[in-house]
Amino acid sequence: MDEFSSRIHRLGVRIFEGVSGRSLTTFGSGGAVRYLALPHGEEEILSVIAAARDEDIPYRVIGGGSNVLLPDRGYDGLLVKLPAEEPIRRVGNLVTVGAGVKMPALARFLSACGLSGAEFACGIPGTMGGAAAVNAGAFGQSLSDLLVEIRAVSKDGERVVLYPRDLDYGYHRASVPEGAILSSMTLRLTESEEGTIKQRMREMRERRSRTQPREPSAGSVFRRVGETPAAIYVEGTGLKGTRIGGALLSPVHCNFIVNTGGATSEEYFALAEKVRESVKALYGVLPEYEVERIC
Ligand SMILES: Cc1cc2nc3c(=O)[nH]c(=O)nc-3n(C[C@H](O)[C@H](O)[C@H](O)COP(=O)(O)OP(=O)(O)OC[C@H]3O[C@@H](n4cnc5c(N)ncnc54)[C@H](O)[C@@H]3O)c2cc1C
Repeated sequence: MDEFSSRIHRLGVRIFEGVSGRSLTTFGSGGAVRYLALPHGEEEILSVIAAARDEDIPYRVIGGGSNVLLPDRGYDGLLVKLPAEEPIRRVGNLVTVGAGVKMPALARFLSACGLSGAEFACGIPGTMGGAAAVNAGAFGQSLSDLLVEIRAVSKDGERVVLYPRDLDYGYHRASVPEGAILSSMTLRLTESEEGTIKQRMREMRERRSRTQPREPSAGSVFRRVGETPAAIYVEGTGLKGTRIGGALLSPVHCNFIVNTGGATSEEYFALAEKVRESVKALYGVLPEYEVERIC
């Protein structure tokens, strides 16, 4: 354990060195991460950020790693990951949840309470923090529609409360202040029948399993182009089924690149770039990435 890890360790925060990016992202690529810290609660987040700032170590926060790729050369900084095991508290129609809680876990909790509005969360393999940071959504629902407020720690080490209007939410888009770590959030739901909610979730899961690949992926590669799903453009390129190394443009859903075994992040982006250039040449539009490259 080096000096920085020892310092974090002395604060009572779990820290690891050299964790493989493959275990931190759903696509399963990426080299070793220099430090991975797992703080519990805002106090520990504040201490970790302060230590990183003191030592001039760059940091990023990662959730379920289901919308990001890590570089194959590794990440020479600190990744902060929040715990999934935080309690979810309900007061009437308001529910407060930790940012590290997985979206399907929240969906299960809400259905058991007879609270509707977040059924879409049942099939998204990310955390609530990641969802609030990218405004995750599906089947016409978005997290921003439910958010009342978000508690966060700013990069200057302040506890802050953010409101949806502060984050300039759009379709799968949000402007989280640079370096901020979202720690928990409160959502407003609507009362409904548990059976109806569960049925809706079942239908959503079935639709996903019919239309999306089962192999490891990072979800949709490209954003919608205006109102048009990117898959319409990608389909037109005829590249469905194209492979670069272990990365394959899924024959099941062509806006997914899947890892068929041992794919690198470079292979992923080489394939994605090939698709983008082909879309540009055919339709004159360059699709924007939905997936984020952490560097
Ligand atoms: C099979 C599959 C299906 C998917 N389907 C959907 C879908 O239907 N709809 C959809 O919207 N997305 C979908 N996704 C993409 C992804 O799951 C979502 O975008 C999810 O919300 C990302 O959450 P995460 O915790 O994995 O975030 P990560 O990928 O870990 O991070 C994403 C971004 O959020 C930031 N972030 C994470 N946690 C925090 C925090 N606590 N504070 C501040 N910033 C934070 C990260 O720094 C990064 O910039 C899918 C992905 C997969 C693999």
